Parts: sequence; C-alpha cells; structure tokens
Amino acid sequence: MSIVYLNNSYIPMAEAKISPMDRGFLFGDGIYEVVPSYNGQMVGFAPHIDRMNNGLSAVGIELGWSHQQWKEVCDNLIEKNGSGNLALYLHVSRGADTKRFHAYPEDIEPTVFAFAFEIPPAPVPDKSKVVGYKVATHRDLRWERCQIKSTALLGNVMHFQHGYEQGANETLLYNERNELTEASACNAYIVKDGVVITPPVDNQILAGITRHILLDLLRKEGSIPVEERPVTMDEVFDADEVWVTSSSKEVVPVIEIDGQPVGDGNIGDVWLAAQTIYSAGKLNY
Ligand code: PLP
Repeated sequence: MSIVYLNNSYIPMAEAKISPMDRGFLFGDGIYEVVPSYNGQMVGFAPHIDRMNNGLSAVGIELGWSHQQWKEVCDNLIEKNGSGNLALYLHVSRGADTKRFHAYPEDIEPTVFAFAFEIPPAPVPDKSKVVGYKVATHRDLRWERCQIKSTALLGNVMHFQHGYEQGANETLLYNERNELTEASACNAYIVKDGVVITPPVDNQILAGITRHILLDLLRKEGSIPVEERPVTMDEVFDADEVWVTSSSKEVVPVIEIDGQPVGDGNIGDVWLAAQTIYSAGKLNY
C-alpha cells in the first residue's frame, strides 16, 4: 500500500510531501472521496466521481478532471498496490497559497492526492459472519452543509470519538427536532414492520453512494418497501432493526444503541435480505 499519487506523480508514500501552506492543511479546504474496490472491480465509481465534482463546484475548486482521468489514477493505484480489497482515497485541496488568508486565492493550482488502503473483504449476506454494531447517540453538532464531502471532518471526528470512548462502533446523530440525521461516517436507517426508512437527502446528511445504490436496488427488486422521510429518535429506539451504511462496510446491522438492544437484540431478517440484494447488484453501479 505504499505507492501514492500526488500531483501527477506516483511515488512511495514516504516521499509524498505537500506545503504547510496548503489550504487543505490550514483550513481543511478540500473535497474527498473513498471508492471501494474488490479484486480490481470498483463499486460505484461513476456516482463517487459525480459527487466529488458536485462538491468541488460547491466550494469553487476548479479542477476539471474527467471521469477517465480519475479512472486512470484509480486503475494505476490498484495495479501498483495489489488488487485485493482496497479503498481508493481521492483528495483535492484548493492548493498551496503564499499567505494565510480566508478568501479563495485566484490562479491557485489544486493539490491532488490519492492513495489506496486495505479494507476487509466484501461483507457476505450471512448472519453468522457479520458482527453487529453497538452505537452511541449524540446531538448532531456539525455544520449545515453536510451534503458536501469536505475534508474538514473535525465535527465528524469528535462525534465518532464520543462513541469510540464508550466502546461503541459508531455514533448516531440527531438534530434539534430529535430527528435522526446520520452517523459520524455512515448513513442510517430503521426497519419497522418490514419497511426500510431513512432520512431524506438534504443539507443534514451526506448523500451516501451506498445509500443510493441500496435504495435503488431495493426499489428495483421490489420485495422490501422503502421510505425516505424524517425519522424521530423515538422511532429509532422502537425500531425492529437499525442499520448503517458506507462504501467500505456496505450494510451493517446495529444491535445495540446506548446499551439498549435493537428489536430482540439479534441481527434481523430484513438486513439479511437487503445485504443479499446489495451484494448481488452492487457491481452494476
Ligand atoms: N455519511 C458520512 C458523514 C460519511 O462520512 C460517509 C462515508 O464516509 C457516509 C455517510 C456514507 O457514504 P458512502 O456510502 O458514499 O460511503
């Protein structure tokens, strides 16, 4: 996992250097993506790059790379780092400035960095092979632009740390109306009476690519109804099942929230059906 891409070069990680005046370093001024790849096959490459381009335009970083340019970087990283189970981390910062000044500088060259890191093998739809998450909860104290996949992740990091310090795998977040938003690094769902319910895409959550693929596959398959609507934390605590999703983890069942069992405390049948549908269809995205 040691060969990385930095500004047109493939070099060992130890040789990759950026300026301390890089606005990614000084301000967290950048956009990133994480694309999973199993045995050389990427999941959701096109929607991941579309989301990065949307993020770059939202913050006014002009990079202008085509999907093909990103594909070449990803393919090269896979080739240079072994094609096992990898996450491809793609990062664009606004670039290195000569001074520390908040306004966007003109004529600045973005810094493009990408590397690969190993992830666990793709989850299998088998209750005996998955470990359910125990999660904590916290009022969502991040900013109101959570749809932007910004490299400025301190809010998410602090929420993750809150759960981590209690031995939890994730932290579920809720807004001032006691409505579920997402988790610190995942989207969140409940299952009630066989219906999968997840908060709608808006400024309070990241529009997860796993979420997009999962909901699309479930709707096409048709046996599990899906609703996108606000979900209160009372509904979360009363749910039959709770899941979180992200690119490197796919669909993860949650078995305990703040020390309380979810449903009967076991991994649910709807999770099994959903992960089965996801595993079968994910490579079409
Ligand atoms: N929400 C947040 C805050 C995230 O950081 C992530 C992934 O990193 C997700 C949701 C899930 O997004 P995706 O499915 O695209 O990995």
